[in-house]
Amino acid sequence: MSINLTESQTMLHQMVSDFADKKVKPYDMQIDKERAYPKELWEGVIETGFLGLTIPEEHGGAGFDAIASAQTVYDMAIRNASIAFTLEGHYKTVDQVMNYATPALKEKYMPQANHRIFGFSSTEPQGGSNIMGNTANAVKDGEKWILNGNKTMITNGGLAEVYCVLLKTSPDELSCFLVDQDMPGFKHGKREEFIGMNGTPVGEIFLENVVVSEDHLLGKLGQGVEIGDHAHYDARILMGAIAAGITEQALTIAVDYAKQREAVGTPIIQLHSIQTKITEIAIAKENIQLLYQEAAKLKVEGQPYAKVATMAKSYGSRAAVIAADHTLQVLGGYGYSREYPAEHLIRDARALQIAEGSLEKMMIEITKEVVKEREA
Ligand SMILES: Cc1cc2nc3c(=O)[nH]c(=O)nc-3n(C[C@H](O)[C@H](O)[C@H](O)COP(=O)(O)OP(=O)(O)OC[C@H]3O[C@@H](n4cnc5c(N)ncnc54)[C@H](O)[C@@H]3O)c2cc1C
Repeated sequence: MSINLTESQTMLHQMVSDFADKKVKPYDMQIDKERAYPKELWEGVIETGFLGLTIPEEHGGAGFDAIASAQTVYDMAIRNASIAFTLEGHYKTVDQVMNYATPALKEKYMPQANHRIFGFSSTEPQGGSNIMGNTANAVKDGEKWILNGNKTMITNGGLAEVYCVLLKTSPDELSCFLVDQDMPGFKHGKREEFIGMNGTPVGEIFLENVVVSEDHLLGKLGQGVEIGDHAHYDARILMGAIAAGITEQALTIAVDYAKQREAVGTPIIQLHSIQTKITEIAIAKENIQLLYQEAAKLKVEGQPYAKVATMAKSYGSRAAVIAADHTLQVLGGYGYSREYPAEHLIRDARALQIAEGSLEKMMIEITKEVVKEREA
């Protein structure tokens, strides 16, 4: 670990590890199979206060920073990636409400975010990468806004009760609105049949003439792209932490198995080809961790963190898939079995190459930044 945790962050880390050992780790395989969190685990997440981790104390939360939330997501992900993914979806949305909502809206919704899940919604059925191609819209009607359209692939969709939604406010302008599932005209749609992160529902919402007051607009009119970008950058720190957590899990499984599995009269950990895989997994984990922790540190210090956060997710999402694939190979035939966790780690890690900006889009962003730095 490259970062020194403060005393309160260390206590949090111990508390999360203890919780996750008892209430998350034993259910890792079950969560993947049943595509849901056990009731006891989910209730524990809310009762223990994990949803309010980053919410300022004045709004009833614990007031921890981005280093602590990344550490928490990592600590969860080394036991089960889905629960970490669910927290990531909530934390990145809460951050945008904190940064862009009016004081009155924060006063109303921030305390609720301690026990109600929040989700961020940009993608539409016709495409996610090209957000200006969105058609869901908001139309001004006196002092109110009328919201219409379909949104899809929302992390925690269905589980979340409050959404930040990017909507067209003119043909070349996106704005962000806070929408509550209890508003008339709001409906949840189907859950996606995704192949991994099986505890986390990813689903649709429908807005049909949903009426919101002016203060449900986050930030200024037309600030939607900026808010969406910020949500991506905040999420990418946490996704780096998830990638590192999956890689750590892959490492533990590979090492434990290789120490006890014998071939040619010796534990397979003695074989060079197995050592190569274990070494690659271990190096990947350290590298991903360095990147997401650096991004979190920059965010806490108030410095630009978008590039490093994007690197953490871009590198981490590929390295975690390769690491989990190495682990599958170390486990041989058992690795290819659904009875062992290596295969679901690959499926879980794969999500990180698509959600919060696809790998291809992130590479464009990183290259742009690198070129800009050299031209400065
Ligand atoms: C597990 C998961 C969770 C998600 N959670 C959320 C969420 O919480 N909120 C939300 O709004 N969305 C969410 N999404 C949706 C996600 O953001 C989109 O899937 C993603 O933006 C890609 O959009 P698309 O699927 O429509 O693919 P498309 O945009 O149609 O892209 C298809 C392919 O073309 C490539 N491509 C597209 N444009 C370019 C370009 N300009 N240059 C190079 N390549 C390009 C893409 O990289 C991709 O490989 C989630 C998706 C997944 C898998």
